[in-house]
Amino acid sequence: MTVFRLAILDGLTFSPIRKQRSAAKVSMSNALQISHHLWQLKMGMVNAYLLETDDGLVLVDAGWPNKTEAIFKAVQESGHNPADIRHLVLTHGHIDHAGSAAEVRRRTGARSYAHAADLELINNGKAERPGTTVTPGIVPAIAYLLFIKPGGTTYESFAIDQTLKDGETLPMANDIEIIHSPGHCAGHIALLLRQEGILIAGDICSNIMGLAYSVLNEDRALARESLLRVAAHPFERAVFGHGKLLDKRANQLLEERFSDTKVR
Ligand SMILES: [Zn+2]
Ligand SMILES: [Zn+2]
Repeated sequence: MTVFRLAILDGLTFSPIRKQRSAAKVSMSNALQISHHLWQLKMGMVNAYLLETDDGLVLVDAGWPNKTEAIFKAVQESGHNPADIRHLVLTHGHIDHAGSAAEVRRRTGARSYAHAADLELINNGKAERPGTTVTPGIVPAIAYLLFIKPGGTTYESFAIDQTLKDGETLPMANDIEIIHSPGHCAGHIALLLRQEGILIAGDICSNIMGLAYSVLNEDRALARESLLRVAAHPFERAVFGHGKLLDKRANQLLEERFSDTKVR
């Protein structure tokens, strides 16, 4: 009887609170479902992505150093088990995308992939290449000083198991195409999910306060060429390493924005 009454009291008294808690949890989740097979994992100023494929989970990028727990928590919030991550694909070798990759790889046993041009960064754990410059303007300058420079110059290096090249499809998902897009970084790749009409853009540009050149580039003119080449592909939506989802006409918006040579 006592147990029964407690159960009722528990239900009457605590259900509303539980509802509030679960509502708060939903709004604070770091996992945002983008499509049937794709989740955005938000880790502060940088996003990673989680893909479901026929061959298990694919993690695209792995955040700053010491973010493994944050990544795994976001993976859980997406309804998946981090132990099921079987592949780790890097859009490029910068520290904010590859910083926790060594630990993720060690703890999951995931196979790692990147473009060959960034092996020199990844194999040596170098934050960026010499000669990488900050985009002109006050906003990139502040972003660099506040968010990028304090991140340091090195991260834990690791081995890439398989290199990816332009035009090939992901070995574990043959409808996902690699687009080599150098300029931001020599080994940068974007991923085109053809069937879903979505581009995982990495850092070809950012979409924090609208579409803009990434804060850092090795060669901004080449980055612009790559942007326009990527934009010639068919996709309606695009997600970025930094910033928000572009939900409609994404390839046209990229083309419009970056075909204007006056845009810095
Ligand atoms: Zn980058
Ligand atoms: Zn980045």
